Amino acid sequence: MISQNLNKVKASLHEGVCLVAVSKFHPVESLREAYDAGQRVFGESHVQELMVKYEALPKDIEWHFIGHLQTNKVKYIAPFISLIHAVDTVKLLNEIDRQAQKVGRVIDCLLQMHIAQEETKYGFTPDELTEMLEAGEWKSLTNVRITGLMCMATNTDDETQIHKEFRYAHETFEAVKQRFFADAPHFKELSMGMSGDYMIAQEEHSTMVRVGSMIFGARNYSMN
Ligand SMILES: *Cc1c(COP(=O)(O)O)cnc(C)c1O
Repeated sequence: MISQNLNKVKASLHEGVCLVAVSKFHPVESLREAYDAGQRVFGESHVQELMVKYEALPKDIEWHFIGHLQTNKVKYIAPFISLIHAVDTVKLLNEIDRQAQKVGRVIDCLLQMHIAQEETKYGFTPDELTEMLEAGEWKSLTNVRITGLMCMATNTDDETQIHKEFRYAHETFEAVKQRFFADAPHFKELSMGMSGDYMIAQEEHSTMVRVGSMIFGARNYSMN
């Protein structure tokens, strides 16, 4: 079932769009099934759970951290994480840099931008994002590389609204790229789109979609 779901999602992707298979709250066997079907990029949002899966599964998996990351947990994932999607404070960026330095790595990060109408504690507003980039502290960090932006649309059935939010995210992404990353070809990722809205996200130029339930089914939150 998982491999069929995976193939269905893959077949619906625009060319060049990266599929992050969001496996949080699913058992190792489910990830193994996706792995055997060829999937190599997995997204997790809890450090403890990620550590268990990292130990249990093949080492050619690219692990993405997609959830809210606490600064005191960065050290656990710094040795192996491929991409951290939701950097939402300068403090977190600094800590990722510090831990990356310790293990001799450069860690790719996306800045989380808040575009949805919903109230949430996480993510820079577009104005905060500009301010933060303008302040320039990030430029002195040697062991993190900002490779793009990540965002989530409002959880709604109103497709017009979702289009609007993703379009705005893409416009902001282009503006930020032009203004702060003109000389940085690695700034190219716009992570947006989940099971319910990734088709819309693709139409609005997402480069990376984070799809969970459409591949693995409903999550069992009592697993951990
Ligand atoms: C859980 C999660 C997803 C995947 O959600 P689905 O609706 O299951 O596809 C994507 N992005 C983030 C940040 C998540 O926490």
